[in-house]
Amino acid sequence: MGAMPEEVSSIKSLMQDVSEIQHGSRCYYSGKIHSVDVILVFSRIGKVASSVTVASLITEFNVTHLIFTGVAGAVSSDLCIGDIVISSCLYQHDLDASPIFPKYEVPLTGCSYFNADPDLIKRTQTAAQVVAKSIQTKIDPAVLDELAIQQPSVFVGKIATGDQFIKTQQQTNTIVEDKPDTLAVEMEGAAVAQVCYEYGIPFVVMRTISDKADHLAPIDFIKFINEIATYYAEHIISHLLIEFKNTSYDTVPRSMKGNRS
Ligand code: SAH
Repeated sequence: MGAMPEEVSSIKSLMQDVSEIQHGSRCYYSGKIHSVDVILVFSRIGKVASSVTVASLITEFNVTHLIFTGVAGAVSSDLCIGDIVISSCLYQHDLDASPIFPKYEVPLTGCSYFNADPDLIKRTQTAAQVVAKSIQTKIDPAVLDELAIQQPSVFVGKIATGDQFIKTQQQTNTIVEDKPDTLAVEMEGAAVAQVCYEYGIPFVVMRTISDKADHLAPIDFIKFINEIATYYAEHIISHLLIEFKNTSYDTVPRSMKGNRS
């Protein structure tokens, strides 16, 4: 699933035997990518939109694994536009039910973070590394120059989610002050992670850095979406699903573990 229509349509171009199913204001595409059964959907933007979409994927379409691809703002100063972040775990930076529950803890779960599936993390990391290496020969050098993209790196780490487009240094500093090891910020991941946790569905969130979550974010974001995000989404998913096809994979959902700290 993805939160930008551009990325979803580039992934759709990989699909064969596609049929469309309308359900609860979303259009779900059912088909195959490299012989693997896939349901693809545009979640829309934000925590509620993505939660309701992933709940349908699980309960109506019986998905066994979930991969979210999208873009994000960089929170860590180690990250550059064009880098790729794969979730180790996700949390909601705008969740605070204190003093009833500790800040960031999802009420009645005892969890502040939800962990992505280690096997999906490894597979996505391998696919992302291949695609990151190809960028310089596949994307127009003028576009790479404009966004100052050189050789993209792939990171695995913590992602923050909230119902805000982060576009000032002050907002970014607030996130870093509380959770200094946060790599990136976006608007859907931790919500998707929580729903997957509730149903015991293994998941991973893969985000390419479209902006630095600062005053230039709205401009960089648009450029990145139009010129580069679709290339990443299509090729990473393609590499990932070739690997799925080539290896046997456990299709029975496993229970997931959250993280209290
Ligand atoms: N103006 C855009 C809105 C995009 S919202 C439009 O009309 O389509 C930004 C999307 O990209 C969300 O899905 C979010 O997950 C991700 N994102 C990228 N950069 C972000 C940032 N700096 N802060 C929060 N979300 C960001």
